[in-house]
Amino acid sequence: MSTHQYDLLIIGAGVSGSALLYETARYTSIQHIGIIEKYAAPARVNSLSSNNSQTLHCGDIETNYTLDKALKVQRAARMLANYCLSQPDKDHLIYKYPKMVLGVGARECELLRARFTQLEPHYPNLRLFETKDIARIEPAVATGRNGQLRGEPIVARTLGRYRRARDFLIPRLQNIPGVEAAAPPGAMYAFFRIRGVADSLDFCKRLVAEHGLGLAPGSAFGPEGEGFVRWCFAASEARLADGIERLERAVRGEKPLRAP
Ligand SMILES: Cc1cc2nc3c(=O)[nH]c(=O)nc-3n(C[C@H](O)[C@H](O)[C@H](O)COP(=O)(O)OP(=O)(O)OC[C@H]3O[C@@H](n4cnc5c(N)ncnc54)[C@H](O)[C@@H]3O)c2cc1C
Repeated sequence: MSTHQYDLLIIGAGVSGSALLYETARYTSIQHIGIIEKYAAPARVNSLSSNNSQTLHCGDIETNYTLDKALKVQRAARMLANYCLSQPDKDHLIYKYPKMVLGVGARECELLRARFTQLEPHYPNLRLFETKDIARIEPAVATGRNGQLRGEPIVARTLGRYRRARDFLIPRLQNIPGVEAAAPPGAMYAFFRIRGVADSLDFCKRLVAEHGLGLAPGSAFGPEGEGFVRWCFAASEARLADGIERLERAVRGEKPLRAP
C-alpha cells in the first residue's frame, strides 16, 4: 500500500470542502492538498442538488438578517449569479423562480411591512402583497373554510390556542420518566426524545396498535430524528391528557388501561 503525505487534508467533499480545495489549490502555495470523501462521489449529502432547496440566498427573504448582513449576502450572491450567467450552459445552472416570505398575524405583518420599506431601495424586484393581493393569486391561503377572507384576529386566536396546547402538553411530557421534551418556540408539534427507543417507527407502530395513540416516528424526518417522536398538539386539552396517559403507560411498558 502506498502512503501519501499532505500539507493540507480536507475531510468531506461537499460544497465547503470542494470550495476550500479549489481556493487553496488556486490561490495559495500549499503543494500537497488532499480531500477525503466517505461516499463514492463528492456532494452526495447536503450539497447534492436534489437534497437541498437550491435557493440562492441574497438577503431579501431572510427575515433574521440585519440590513448590513443582507447587503453583504446580496453582494456574494450576485457574484455567484453573474458567474453562472456567464457560463455557456447557464440554462442548466441557474433558474429564475419567485420566492416568498409569508407573515401571519398582526405582529408578523407589521414586521414584514417595515422590512419591505427598509429593503425595497436595495432590492428593486421586491413586492409587497397585502391579503387581497394574496387572495387574488392563491385564494386558499387567504380565505377560511367559509370562503371569506381570514381576518387577523382569527389567525391570532388560532396561535393562542396552539400556545395554550403547547404549554399544557410539554410539562406533562417532561413528567414522564425517560422523555426529554423542549417547548417549541413556533409550530404545532412537539418533537421529543424517548430514552431507550432505538427504532422510533417500531415504537410508533406499537403505540398505535396497543395504546391507540398515533404519533409520528422521528426517523421519518431523517436519520438524526431516530429515537425521537413527533406529536401534533392541535387538539383539545382533554384529548392531549388522554394521549399523555396512553404514552406514559407505553413508556413504562404497562398494558393499556382501556381498549384503544
Ligand atoms: C433540506 C435542505 C435544504 C437546504 N436548502 C438550501 C438552499 O436552498 N440554499 C442554500 O444555500 N443552502 C441550503 N441548504 C444548506 C446547504 O445544502 C448546506 O449548507 C451545504 O450543502 C453544506 O455543505 P457542506 O460541504 O458544508 O456539507 P455537506 O454537503 O454535508 O458535505 C459534507 C461532506 O463530508 C463528508 N464527510 C462527513 N464526515 C466525513 C468523514 N469522517 N470522512 C469523510 N467524509 C466525511 C460527507 O459525506 C459529505 O459529503 C439546505 C440544506 C438542507 C438539508
